[in-house]
Amino acid sequence: MVSSPIIDLLKNQLPLDQERLVLSENVRYGLVLVDIINGFCTVGAGPLAPAEHNQQISEMIKEAERISKVFSEKKWPIMAFLDSHHPDVPEYPYPPHCLTGSDESNLVPALRWLEEEPNVTIRRKDCYDGFIGSIQNDGSNVFVNWVKSNKIESLLVVGVCTDICVLDFVCSTLSAKTRGFLSPLEDVVVYSNGCTTFDFPVEVAQTSKHGSAHPQEIMHHMGLYMAKGRGARIVNSVLAAEP
Ligand SMILES: [Zn+2]
Repeated sequence: MVSSPIIDLLKNQLPLDQERLVLSENVRYGLVLVDIINGFCTVGAGPLAPAEHNQQISEMIKEAERISKVFSEKKWPIMAFLDSHHPDVPEYPYPPHCLTGSDESNLVPALRWLEEEPNVTIRRKDCYDGFIGSIQNDGSNVFVNWVKSNKIESLLVVGVCTDICVLDFVCSTLSAKTRGFLSPLEDVVVYSNGCTTFDFPVEVAQTSKHGSAHPQEIMHHMGLYMAKGRGARIVNSVLAAEP
């Protein structure tokens, strides 16, 4: 965890109490993996991928892999959103990225095994928000159907970016839950150490023509804080219950 006077001030002014989650055998969980793909997480894999090793991204992948193994061993449902764009449909304000069919839009090597697992649903999406990206041409929603058919009561969310695709998905899901579209879903839980965001420090942004400043630790904290403000539970540890 990075510390600096600004981050300390931010965490002081916007304190975030985090819980711990023990995965109970008595609750029906679903795991959502948001965009843990090469184009955002593998060094040098594309215009939005990290240019060099990033500790927070490595940690996020490690935790996503660990929890995915727990879910797969228990045959609990997993839904993986994979950002995948048509080359003619840009996603403003970002440059073209994660084109459908490219390796950028595939799961990172540590999670590629999930493609073969029967409990895993892969949903390629062409917008930030996985909830909106799950709407099909006939109006049905792959994510809503997945929650209902698996009778998911508690949703655990990990991935990137905390303040972009994770936050957008969490906000839409909580609004849909409030409107009664996601019964029996009760809880949306965001695992802070299983999420992260990209790093574009202000010093770099000021000398670049591309994009606004996006300091990783600040934006990660903001994403969690705003998700909590919409009603998500934020946890900093996820453990499997002792058998
Ligand atoms: Zn995208």
